[in-house]
Amino acid sequence: LKSVRLAGLSLESLSNALEQAYHDVEAGNRAKSQFMATMGHEIRTPLNAILGTAELLELSHLPPSVATGVQTIRRSGEALLEIINEILDFAKIEHGNLDVEIRPVDLRAVVSATVVIIRDRATEHGNRIALEMPVAFEAPFISSDPTRLRQVLLNLLSNAIKFTKNGLVTLRVSEMRAQDQAVLRFEIIDTGIGIDGDGLCKLFRPFSQVDASISRKYGGTGLGLTICKQIVEVLGGRIGVDSVKGRGSTFWFEIPAVPAERLSDDADVDER
Ligand code: ADP
Repeated sequence: LKSVRLAGLSLESLSNALEQAYHDVEAGNRAKSQFMATMGHEIRTPLNAILGTAELLELSHLPPSVATGVQTIRRSGEALLEIINEILDFAKIEHGNLDVEIRPVDLRAVVSATVVIIRDRATEHGNRIALEMPVAFEAPFISSDPTRLRQVLLNLLSNAIKFTKNGLVTLRVSEMRAQDQAVLRFEIIDTGIGIDGDGLCKLFRPFSQVDASISRKYGGTGLGLTICKQIVEVLGGRIGVDSVKGRGSTFWFEIPAVPAERLSDDADVDER
């Protein structure tokens, strides 16, 4: 208060200035998020055309050298699309409107489809993938968002594969009860580079990568875990990690296992 008076400012003018600065920052943030969302959509449209054409070409009989080129175009396009989708999701998080669509989810189908998608990537890194899932779930159909659930699993599994070389990545799914509520627990366990205590504190913050040299080596936006955390929390769950540097990491998340009636055969198929 003394320094405010010394600077010749009244409390009222200081509070007005602070309020104005707050509104300016808010407006700046909104403009930034809007810009990111618009750019994301503008880039996604031509990119989808490139990907669609590459996929069509892959179905035809091409000379081996051309086929390799087309595969590179498709894979690079997919990587770019992943980045753009992350930026779009982050813009939604900043606006506080990350969308989820709750409906019946066939748990087994979502998990198996995710493992199929990830298997090729694991092999490229010399990693084996193991799936530990109970033969039967108490509630095989739960009320959740299948697309968002698959997104979180893909993200955590991709990270596990990216930071593990010639090792083992295990996806373990289990059912448990917490505070008298049925809960599904997913653990993504890797035998990779691990994370030290300092790194663990900042993992789920936007744009955080454990160290800059690692980010240059492995690439990535530093947004994946922020998005996973937000999705899991919107789905009513929690997320965390245990890790030992040099030994490996276990990323886990838990979501409520609210039983759902099976509505239709394609209940778990959705493209966002
Ligand atoms: P990105 O992978 O795009 O950099 P993420 O938010 O998914 O962004 O991850 C943030 C950082 O967390 C990574 O850059 C890496 O430093 C660390 N990290 C995430 N998963 C693992 C893992 N399984 N093992 C070791 N480090 C990891």
